[in-house]
Amino acid sequence: MSQKPGKATEEDKKKRKHKKKTKQILTRAVTHIRLIEANPGKLDALDQLVVVFQALCQRYVTLLCLADSGPDKYAAPVFETELSDRWHRVAMQQAAGIAGSWRTNRQVAYDAYLEDVADYAETKAKAQACGVPLDLKRKEPAWREWNLPVLRVPAIQANANVVVVEPSEDSTFDYWLRISTLDKGNPLRVPVKLASYHKKALQGRTLNTSTTLHKRNGVWWLTLSFDEDVPLQTEPSAPLVGVDVGIANFVTTSTGKQYGSFQGKLARRHKRDREKRRRKARLRACLEKKGVPKRKLPSTSSATGQRLGRHVKQEINRAVNLMIKEHPGARFIYEDLSVASMRFKARSMNAYLYASNLAHIPEQIAWATAKRGMAAHTVKAAYSSQECHRCHYVDRANRPDQSTFFCVVCHHRDHADHNAALNVASRWGDQELAACQKKDQIKAVLLRRHEACKQLFGLAVVQPAVQLGLWDDPPASTDVA
Ligand SMILES: [Zn+2]
Repeated sequence: MSQKPGKATEEDKKKRKHKKKTKQILTRAVTHIRLIEANPGKLDALDQLVVVFQALCQRYVTLLCLADSGPDKYAAPVFETELSDRWHRVAMQQAAGIAGSWRTNRQVAYDAYLEDVADYAETKAKAQACGVPLDLKRKEPAWREWNLPVLRVPAIQANANVVVVEPSEDSTFDYWLRISTLDKGNPLRVPVKLASYHKKALQGRTLNTSTTLHKRNGVWWLTLSFDEDVPLQTEPSAPLVGVDVGIANFVTTSTGKQYGSFQGKLARRHKRDREKRRRKARLRACLEKKGVPKRKLPSTSSATGQRLGRHVKQEINRAVNLMIKEHPGARFIYEDLSVASMRFKARSMNAYLYASNLAHIPEQIAWATAKRGMAAHTVKAAYSSQECHRCHYVDRANRPDQSTFFCVVCHHRDHADHNAALNVASRWGDQELAACQKKDQIKAVLLRRHEACKQLFGLAVVQPAVQLGLWDDPPASTDVA
C-alpha cells in the first residue's frame, strides 16, 4: 500500500534547504489496482506498446550504464523508434533512473574492492617486513565485473504526457486511464475500478500525475500515488540516537540496545531454502540429461526464496518500529548504506541475496521515522566500524572478531556494533567528514583526529590517563609510541 519516499531531485533539495524544515513530504503509493479488460483485446494496444517501449528503454539502459559520465535524463535522443517523442522521453527517463542506481551501486562496490586491495597489500607488506607468513586463509581480493541490468518485467513509469488519469462520470468505474499508443491520435481508454481499501486510501487526496503500469502473469496493474505532508514533531534539542546497521543485529543503537537479527530462525530458514534449491537444480540437471523437454522440467525460480525475502523485510520492519517506539522524541542518525555496501557487510555470510533485503533497513528507518514526523538523518558510514570512539584510531585490527571492538592503541573495549553506533551519532553535523568525497579522505581526517587526541591525552598516556579514568585498561606503552 505504501511506498518508500522517492529520492528527491537536486532542485528539490536546494529548495528545501532554504526553507526551515517544519514538515516532510511523503509520497504514498496505492498499488495493486488491476486494469480491467472491459472487452477482449482491449489491452492489445498496451501490450504492443510495451514491447516497443521496453526494447527502447533497454537500449538506453545499456548505453547509459556503459557511458563515461553519469546519465542525464534530459539528454538528446540517440535511437530511432516508432514511439512518439513523448513516449521516447519517458523511456529515456526510466532508463536514466535504472542506469543511475546501477552505476552508483557498482561504484560503491568497486571502491570497497579497491580498499580491500590496498588493505591486503598493506597487511602483506607488514607480514613480509616482520618475516611472518601471511595468513593462508586470506585470499587476494578479486573483482568480478557486474552484469548490465536486463529489463524483465514489462513496466512503465509514465507521466501525464502519455498516461492521464481522468475521474469517471459513470458510477460503474472510478477513473478512466487514457494511454497514448503507437496509433497516434487514437489513445486507449481503460476503465479503473478501485477496491474499497484503495478508495479509503485515496479519499480526499490529490493524485500525483505520475503513474506506474506493470504486467505480471498476464495481468496489467496500475500504481497511483499521492503526496502527504507530515508535520515534523522532533524538537531541535531532541537527544541524538546513532544507529548501526548489521547482520548479527539488524540495528544497534548508541543507547546500547539491539533489535532483530539474521541469525537464528532466519538463518536456519535461509539454509533450508538454499538446500531445497540445490536439490531442485540437481533434479533438473538429471532430468535434462535423460532428455526431458525443457518446459517439463521443475522451475529454477524459488518461490520460497521470495517468501523468505518478504519474511526478512517483515522482521526488519518489526525491529525498526520497536527501536523507534523505545526512543520516543529522539533524532535518529544512521548510516548512508547502499545495497552494494550491504553486500560487503554481508560478505562473511556469503549472502548476496540477503544483502538486498538488508538494504531494506536504512529504507525502513527513513520511512518509519518520516511517517511519524520524526527527524532522521544519514551520515557517512566509512570506517564507522573500525574507528575507536574514544581515540579515533582507525584500524581493521581494532576488530578482533565480529562482535568485539578493542582499540589497539587506547585499549578501549566495547561491543563492535555499539562502538559503531556511537561513531555514527557523533558524525551528525560533522562538516569536515561530510565534505569528504572519498573514503581515504575520511580515514585521513579520522587519523588526524587521533593524533590530536594523542597530543591531548596521550603524551603521558600510560599512567595519568588511567588515574583520570580515561582508559579502561592500562595500554601497553609500546602501543602508544
Ligand atoms: Zn582507541
